[in-house]
Amino acid sequence: MLDQMGASWSDYNKGEDILDIWFDSGSSWSVIHRDGIERADLYLEGSDQFGGWFQSSLLTGIASNDLPPYRQLVVHGFAVDEKGKKMSKSIGNVVDPDTVIYGGRNQDKEPSYGVDVLRWWTAQAQLQPMVNIGQSVLQRCNEDLFKIRKVMKFVLGNIHDFDSELLLPYEDLWPQDKYMLYQLYHLAEEVTQSYDIFRYGNVLGRLEKFTTADLSSFYCSVIKDRLYCTSAKDRTRRAAQTVLYHVTNVFMKSLAPIIPHFAEEIHQHVSSSEESSVFKSGWFTIDPAWDNHAILNFMQPALSIKEDIDGCTDIDRPVKYDLTLYCSHNLHNILQEFQSEVSSATSSLTEILQTSYTHLTTVAPDTVPDDCIVLNGASKVSVIEGVKMPEEYVLLLTPARKYICDRCRRFTADKRRSPCERCLSVLSNGWE
Ligand SMILES: [Zn+2]
Repeated sequence: MLDQMGASWSDYNKGEDILDIWFDSGSSWSVIHRDGIERADLYLEGSDQFGGWFQSSLLTGIASNDLPPYRQLVVHGFAVDEKGKKMSKSIGNVVDPDTVIYGGRNQDKEPSYGVDVLRWWTAQAQLQPMVNIGQSVLQRCNEDLFKIRKVMKFVLGNIHDFDSELLLPYEDLWPQDKYMLYQLYHLAEEVTQSYDIFRYGNVLGRLEKFTTADLSSFYCSVIKDRLYCTSAKDRTRRAAQTVLYHVTNVFMKSLAPIIPHFAEEIHQHVSSSEESSVFKSGWFTIDPAWDNHAILNFMQPALSIKEDIDGCTDIDRPVKYDLTLYCSHNLHNILQEFQSEVSSATSSLTEILQTSYTHLTTVAPDTVPDDCIVLNGASKVSVIEGVKMPEEYVLLLTPARKYICDRCRRFTADKRRSPCERCLSVLSNGWE
């Protein structure tokens, strides 16, 4: 077998002229010098090399060229057991990477975690001087990775009939879609910056936070009606898919350097992938239009109202209620961005709040029914540019007056055991 230089093993001779190991390793930069490279981008080693290779390289480089032979140093930590003890064969606390990947003899005690979990553990260690490894920390890494896998499974399942040709322009998206792209923009920026400074643990921490807080508990939970119950080609469904498509792209590429197998798996599922591998597809590009700070002002009252409804212990599921939202003209103007109609079961606002119907009004109700839950709230909204004023509102939640729709499971049907008007229209138009 020939190596990359076209030589076989028999073409090499063992060197006998070692002057001094530190001098020899410390002058290894001279090899890249011969190829016309001024200095290495990076030297990577453990902290014990400050008095060894890092130093001897620096001394020989400065002495010969008046220049350090590396631009940056990255110093990794050393693995210790879960109690912080140095690993030793005599104590029997050595963790073998092969055992982490393939599992031990007793798979109950030492399960097989695969390469991705081992790499996740290495990345989250964040170049600390001492890094603990053992079953409990590996189990935690496995759970963290599983959380992202689970959400990505949902996301990929919902873009199975979508590709880059179907992406909608930014202005056609709903406020919650734009809000997600705003969050995604900042996630992508932070991920890129973290890679630039070798903070791999920050990359994972940020992806995990986005998955749990923004994606899983908010966005993916509210968009299900749009994804499952509107017609396949409905523009509101395409808007949600547009966001999920961008999320997939950013996640896949952010994860690839750390957990390559999972990233490749995602790549294989994205139907419009033009490149054969995620590693040939380059870094992600993010649209500066997503960095729309004004969307936070718009979303704040909607999210505040959602928080009041979700936090009310008398309400088990908001879908069982019709909401009347009584508020000031200022707040009403903002909420009309989410719902232009007085009353709607399919508006962007109803989706966020997950009620069956939402009625918007600036007129105080004359009477409040006995079975109505009344919640008072306030949200800071930007009335004059740069000035945030608290705007009060009243939420009146009455048990939904219509019947449950057999198709979308929301209380929007005029007749018992029948689909609602929206669902009937989707079905009559040859639902796919
Ligand atoms: Zn329905």
